[in-house]
Amino acid sequence: MRDNCLSSQCRHPTSFEKNYDISEVIEPPKPLKVQLTDNELIIDWDENPAHRSFFLVPWLMSHAYDGNQETQPISENILWDKAWLDANSDDRQTWTN
Ligand SMILES: [Zn+2]
Repeated sequence: MRDNCLSSQCRHPTSFEKNYDISEVIEPPKPLKVQLTDNELIIDWDENPAHRSFFLVPWLMSHAYDGNQETQPISENILWDKAWLDANSDDRQTWTN
């Protein structure tokens, strides 16, 4: 999260390039205080000088790594396939008889 801070200190406001490189920090800062408002996540970082990050909730949703995937668990698909195969083979038996 700290590495993705959108503040003007961390990213250039127009080019949007990172000015803050977390790889240069010996120990990654920890969040000191986290506040979630209606449309913003505010994080106060435990670092010196103190730093506050703002993340818009829609931005977080669009950048979430786990996403909002609506794919079904694989096991459900396997069970469905087996049920379909069983039904299908039954049909074939009645066909040949
Ligand atoms: Zn920042």
